[in-house]
Amino acid sequence: MNPAARIHFLRDEIRRHEELYYVHAKPEITDAAFDALMSELRALEAAHPELLTVDSPTQRVGGRPAEGFAEVEHLQPMLSLDNAYHEEDLRAFDERVRKGLGVDRSPAYVAELKIDGLSMALTYEDGRLVRGATRGDGVRGEEVTQNVRTVRAIPLSLKGGPQGRVEIRGEVYLPKKNFERINQEQEDAGEPLYANPRNTAAGTLRNLDPALVAKRGLAAWMYQLVAEFDLSAEAPASVESHAQMLKDLAAWGLPVEPHWKRCAGIEDLVAFCNEWRDRRHSLAFETDGVVIKLDDPALRQRLGSTSKFPRWATAFKFPAEQKQAMLKSIEINIGRTGAATPFAMLEPTVVAGSTISMATLHNPDDIVRKDIRPGEMVIIEKAGDVIPRVVGPVDTDPARPTPRWVMPATCPRCGSALQKPEDEAVWRCDNSSCPSKLQRGLEHFASRGAMNIEGLGESLIWQLCKNGLIKSYADIYFLDAPTLEGMERMGKKSAAKVLAELEKSKSNDVWRLLYGLGIRHVGERGAQVLADHFGSIDAIEVASIEQLQSVHEIGPVLAASVRAYFDEPRNRELIAGLRKAGLKLVGEPKRAPEGSQPLAGRTYVITGELSGMSREDAQARLEALGAKVTNSVSTKTTALIVGADPGASKFEKASALGIPTKNEQEFMELLATAQPDNPRAR
Ligand SMILES: [Zn+2]
Repeated sequence: MNPAARIHFLRDEIRRHEELYYVHAKPEITDAAFDALMSELRALEAAHPELLTVDSPTQRVGGRPAEGFAEVEHLQPMLSLDNAYHEEDLRAFDERVRKGLGVDRSPAYVAELKIDGLSMALTYEDGRLVRGATRGDGVRGEEVTQNVRTVRAIPLSLKGGPQGRVEIRGEVYLPKKNFERINQEQEDAGEPLYANPRNTAAGTLRNLDPALVAKRGLAAWMYQLVAEFDLSAEAPASVESHAQMLKDLAAWGLPVEPHWKRCAGIEDLVAFCNEWRDRRHSLAFETDGVVIKLDDPALRQRLGSTSKFPRWATAFKFPAEQKQAMLKSIEINIGRTGAATPFAMLEPTVVAGSTISMATLHNPDDIVRKDIRPGEMVIIEKAGDVIPRVVGPVDTDPARPTPRWVMPATCPRCGSALQKPEDEAVWRCDNSSCPSKLQRGLEHFASRGAMNIEGLGESLIWQLCKNGLIKSYADIYFLDAPTLEGMERMGKKSAAKVLAELEKSKSNDVWRLLYGLGIRHVGERGAQVLADHFGSIDAIEVASIEQLQSVHEIGPVLAASVRAYFDEPRNRELIAGLRKAGLKLVGEPKRAPEGSQPLAGRTYVITGELSGMSREDAQARLEALGAKVTNSVSTKTTALIVGADPGASKFEKASALGIPTKNEQEFMELLATAQPDNPRAR
């Protein structure tokens, strides 16, 4: 046999045995025999480097990525799923599906075990693995291709399978026995133990050394095909059913968790969930529930998605596992709104595969009502990703000797008295300069969902606040390299990185800033809607409650909260500070659709400096709404917009011709009201 043919034969054999071993756990040959095949292939490839290809099984472990992980966009957003916790929730889901489809009988569902790992998107081009990316925020993830290649359950090339570019989604996880082995090694080396397989898998996948990743022994289960040729459907048009797609994935050599089942209707589905609730501990991997999807892609399309979840799928979560633990103390956390939340410090205890040392408590009234006392054994529970919580005391005798717990009277951080409005369950620290509030607020401001300032994490923010280096969000933009380098665990390189990230964040979309401000009730979606509608922070700042409320999706509570926020002088000062720091406060002009240009037929002239936006931006916004902007005042001018230091000639001409003028605030109001969807625009 010539070398090329032998190499080809060996690769196919090795791939087949890898699949048998890593996907089906049914090896046909001994490890030694497998190693012999590998050695022969390596030797042949070394002798004939011209025959080496990137998808050869010898090429799983490559070099380190030089610059960390790049951010990449997914073919389609990776939505998360709505959750069901009880049988009634499952039945309610089925009812919603039937109602949505207008049918009486429940349709076929595919039930798959939910893997407690990390969501992953693999891209294959003409059958070859070219990219592996983490879920990230669902739209963008991190490219971890080098590490994904080391996962031996994931084929570097598909057997048969689709041509062109496809994305295949699934979950990368750490099998229980590998997790135990790694922790044994940690223990032997006197290193701290890892908390649970999921976090260990996450940490491993983000390690910059593929050789180490390979040693950890990650595994994967894939469950979804997303093809580029049909961007609108969750499954490509050629896929007749989800069940068939799973079979196809398996036929292409991809790892597909074998216990999935096509359930004929809701009864079958409930039985599947109940069966696995009891059997799950016998599996080689952690599962925290069952993923349920409509089998028929055409029905899925009919149901569609909400802004958060697909309507045709849900995740059934297995009930939480309970344990007893010693409650060492109850501490108080002060959040960014000043809310004082008690939490439990526990003697480390293993629950549902994780070591728990902190847990949430409901609210102070609840702690008193349940009579939870520090220094006693309590019942804790944890389910999957959910934060563990204290359920109640083990001993419930009211006459027991341990002292009852009382809510502290003062803020643990600043010593101000904690206040509780009569009608609320929450205690608050009302000190507006409480360092804890600023700290938590900044954590939110810098977070991935908001301003996304990488490197400005909890520890750095805490040090900056503690040392009095920042008093408002705007101050972070005036930090310099020597200051940052002076912080613990910060070198020249990391300081430079934070500064670069800060700089980059200045040109973020306006909604990110709006969300980052942490205005009560303004979530990501609300911020996007407001930014879209008003176009700039300044326009939102001057908008009345009525104007805010007239926006589709904005309710009275949110509108009042936004108005109250901007009525607070300290907050307006903050905006001024952010402007001074050079942050983008104006969004890209939204072009009104043809035929709905509320300012069509009007002509404006701008004179003087506007404080909120450049002249170019102002012109672009007016034009986007259908108006014309000219340089000189004439009888055709609708109004003259007058900023600071206006040109005298334009102003005089306007007065002579009786052309109305608008100051900056009036101009902002004009932009705010003259939106395409607002017929009341003037
Ligand atoms: Zn305080």
